[in-house]
Amino acid sequence: MKNRRENFLISSIVLIVMGALMSLAIDVIMGAIVGLSGILCFIIGMSTSTEMGLSPEAVANWKPSMGRLPDAGRFMYRVDVTMDEPISSTILCGPCGNLESIDGPRPDHYTCSVCNRQLWSTEEE
Ligand SMILES: [Zn+2]
Repeated sequence: MKNRRENFLISSIVLIVMGALMSLAIDVIMGAIVGLSGILCFIIGMSTSTEMGLSPEAVANWKPSMGRLPDAGRFMYRVDVTMDEPISSTILCGPCGNLESIDGPRPDHYTCSVCNRQLWSTEEE
């Protein structure tokens, strides 16, 4: 129980630090978005200890904890594929922040089920 809460607090600190660095190195708005999501993470971590926490199983199948990714002209996304069986892919949609898990490796094309944006397509046609 305690570890779950700590995970949340640690990720919030990482986000806040990243936000500060990004606002200096890249863009103030971008940094502010990341920083604010870190602060939000911290508040959630402080107010809940079990509900939002990660189970040991979830830590084993690590999923990205970042919310929205900055929209830099094209759709940003993030795909994490597990190393061990059963293979599953976790897709984070940049435009709307939707996190979806699918069975199997990264598909050839993917359209976000929440905002209907096609995040990528490798089909040649
Ligand atoms: Zn989406």
